[in-house]
Amino acid sequence: MSQDPTKLSEQFLTHQVTNQPPPLVYDAWATDPVLREAVAREGGGWGESHVAAYGKLVGGELMQLGFLANENKPKFRPFDRYGHRIDEVEFHPAYHRIMELAISHGGTGFAWKNADRPGAHVARMALSYLHNQADQGTGCPLTMTYACVPTLRQQPELAKEWLPRVTSSVYDPRFIPAAQKHGATFGMGMTEKQGGSDVRSNQTRAEPTGAPGPGQPYTLVGHKFFFSAPMCDAFLVLAQAKGGLSCFLLPRFTPDGERNPIRIQRLKDKLGDWSNASSEVEFHGALAWMCGEEGRGVATILEMVALTRQDCMIGSSSLMRQALVQAIHHCRHRSAFGKRLAEQPLMRNVLADLALESEAHTALTARVARAVDASGRDPNEAAFCRVATAIGKYWVCKRAPVFVNEAQECLGGAGYVEESNLPRLYRQAPLNSIWEGSGNIQCLDFLRAAAREPAAIAALVAEISAARGGNRILDEEADKLMNELADTQTLEVRSRMIVERLALCLQGSILVRAGNAVVSDAFCATRLGGQKGQAFGTLPATVPFQQLVDRAFPA
Ligand SMILES: Cc1cc2nc3c(=O)[nH]c(=O)nc-3n(C[C@H](O)[C@H](O)[C@H](O)COP(=O)(O)OP(=O)(O)OC[C@H]3O[C@@H](n4cnc5c(N)ncnc54)[C@H](O)[C@@H]3O)c2cc1C
Repeated sequence: MSQDPTKLSEQFLTHQVTNQPPPLVYDAWATDPVLREAVAREGGGWGESHVAAYGKLVGGELMQLGFLANENKPKFRPFDRYGHRIDEVEFHPAYHRIMELAISHGGTGFAWKNADRPGAHVARMALSYLHNQADQGTGCPLTMTYACVPTLRQQPELAKEWLPRVTSSVYDPRFIPAAQKHGATFGMGMTEKQGGSDVRSNQTRAEPTGAPGPGQPYTLVGHKFFFSAPMCDAFLVLAQAKGGLSCFLLPRFTPDGERNPIRIQRLKDKLGDWSNASSEVEFHGALAWMCGEEGRGVATILEMVALTRQDCMIGSSSLMRQALVQAIHHCRHRSAFGKRLAEQPLMRNVLADLALESEAHTALTARVARAVDASGRDPNEAAFCRVATAIGKYWVCKRAPVFVNEAQECLGGAGYVEESNLPRLYRQAPLNSIWEGSGNIQCLDFLRAAAREPAAIAALVAEISAARGGNRILDEEADKLMNELADTQTLEVRSRMIVERLALCLQGSILVRAGNAVVSDAFCATRLGGQKGQAFGTLPATVPFQQLVDRAFPA
């Protein structure tokens, strides 16, 4: 759709509309060489044709649906018109269409169906990275459905029943027993009022209905303070059994077709994440099946959490990518003081700095996806995955709010107005760093792995050292960092600083080995060598700004 100010229909009485960018309808995969290179580098290139099809949708239909699904928030329906308790949440049709497009394109099942091909999780990372640019709220049930698989596998009879539905390419939104459906979605319930990070404080109780133990039915009595996507078909939840905190599969319907007594108390009134419903619930004797060993609930559900943490990284790098695209597009079409904004020297510095930051996050996210992918085949990758997920989740998610704010500023006032998607991205930006273990929890998790798993630190050091000799600044920073790590005094209070620097070294190492010296030299000099201020747009004048911007989003 192009505007022509000479057309009558485009004329106002007082002015003509000029100097506004055209609407951006684009192919989000074809116009993203950084993502395409990262996916190929990490072994997911064979999924290209599959991912490419989704890229076209993301920059078009899905982008429009994203606006609709967020403007029309989910509605809580506790009762039907006759006063019966129904505990349902009603979503706008746009939400269902987004879910349908995502699931039918493999957003939940692709990696599991292609698990025998190395790189399947990398290709799935690309699908999720694209998807989250159009809507992040649906990213929540999609990621939980993708991530529940390793936990479900710990209880073979539950896996046999549920995995075909979970990995199905069919989105079946009907609120009926899962056994009658062609596809199912999963949620997760850990956080209670008295504690979220410290789930050992969970109070929800589980009583066996007959014989106790793994795979057996229990009734749950208790609550969850955060329970997202409550219309999912089933949930993995933590509850206290006689033998300690255990993991349970909690379906929305009981086997006799009745609604399981999962009482939705209310929906959370959230800063952002509006297309997604997050609820508070009570379990009034809800039927659930023990999944995994009794008393090993945290270890069992952590198999799922490891993947949802990876998806927080994907979500945040995706948010930053979308904000960058919007900023570059606007600045290429908007002029001020006689020049396009994208040609103004200082704005070039801002855009180039954002592009550099975005590329580093995308590169690290894709590398972690490869580690997830290879974990089952390669113990070194499993060890690397363990620490790189904590480091990446901490740093990538932490950078999103400040990044999106800078991109908003590139649009000026238009970036603060809801008709652009920047305000929505801004509201969403803090969430990934809070859920699935907030910042400090990731740093403590890194320290725990470092203390208990020597292989994890060895894998991390090997990964950073793989670029040795490629950039002097990176080598020097890596050496300093290893000394910091070796000093075990006061490690906990220093852990944010250490994890941040580890993330930057990892990003530097990946970029150096990726082989584009324009990118890696600028990254290492500014992020590791201190040649930059705190804000974006503070790159030294020697950096080839235009090249970085053109690479990020080819004109
Ligand atoms: C929109 C939304 C949806 C959510 N959906 C779900 C869901 O579906 N299922 C679910 O189970 N949960 C969900 N959550 C909950 C989320 O995972 C928790 O809020 C999060 O894990 C933090 O727990 P908490 O809120 O109890 O904070 P707390 O555990 O009280 O932590 C508060 C702060 O203290 C820090 N902290 C904790 N321990 C330490 C320590 N030892 N040292 C230093 N700092 C520490 C934390 O890092 C955090 O910054 C959702 C949250 C949000 C916002």
